[in-house]
Amino acid sequence: MRYLILSDIHANWEALTAVLAHAEGSYDRILNCGDLVGYGADPNRVTEWCRKHCQEVIRGNHDKACAGLADMMWFNPVARLAAEWTASQLNAENLKYIRELTQGPMVIDGAFQIMHGSPVDEDEYLIDTMDVAGVLGSLDWNLSFFGHTHVQGAFLIQRNKVHPFSKQSIELEEHAAYLVNPGSVGQPRDHDWRAAYAIYDSDDRTIQLARTEYDVAATKAKIIAAGLPEILAFRLDSGR
Ligand code: ZN
Repeated sequence: MRYLILSDIHANWEALTAVLAHAEGSYDRILNCGDLVGYGADPNRVTEWCRKHCQEVIRGNHDKACAGLADMMWFNPVARLAAEWTASQLNAENLKYIRELTQGPMVIDGAFQIMHGSPVDEDEYLIDTMDVAGVLGSLDWNLSFFGHTHVQGAFLIQRNKVHPFSKQSIELEEHAAYLVNPGSVGQPRDHDWRAAYAIYDSDDRTIQLARTEYDVAATKAKIIAAGLPEILAFRLDSGR
């Protein structure tokens, strides 16, 4: 089975459609690690697409906030404004879908798992090896995909030691565990503005981390036209 792994689309329709075009023919199923909405100007379009096309979706912290299920005290003012705007835009059906998204981690086909933040907390950031070392006791599977940081990359765990894994192409080894972040489709923060995703081939036991350019000017224009904070448009250029 070949899985297209998406995370942190953040209502960016142009980035999502660019990823789908770039990955066309290389996957059988689609999985989504959360944050469908928040920040971007196309929450209904993106949510509708996810409802129709993703095999499994888990919720992210922004989905939770936009659905009114989170205390927004912990959100910065820009994220809060975007969440309030998104909640006001989502139609009833899409809002219901976002509100009812399952909290991760979720086991996929009895073989691996997807989650938004960490295995312990969907709001927890796994940024470095120390963060990953702190949650090793809660990792039940040898392969986990996560999002939330908007940073594409992977961690390899061998003999209880965590190593960063910088290659774009990963061949899964026996007796090792992997935590893989496909990166953010709609708002990358790893100094690369291009939309990010991953393909996992469970037969070959390989993972490819991929990037594709998209029409960022169109996305920025929509964000500004929607009256969302302009920083949400301009940060897309730098991928930060
Ligand atoms: Zn996110």
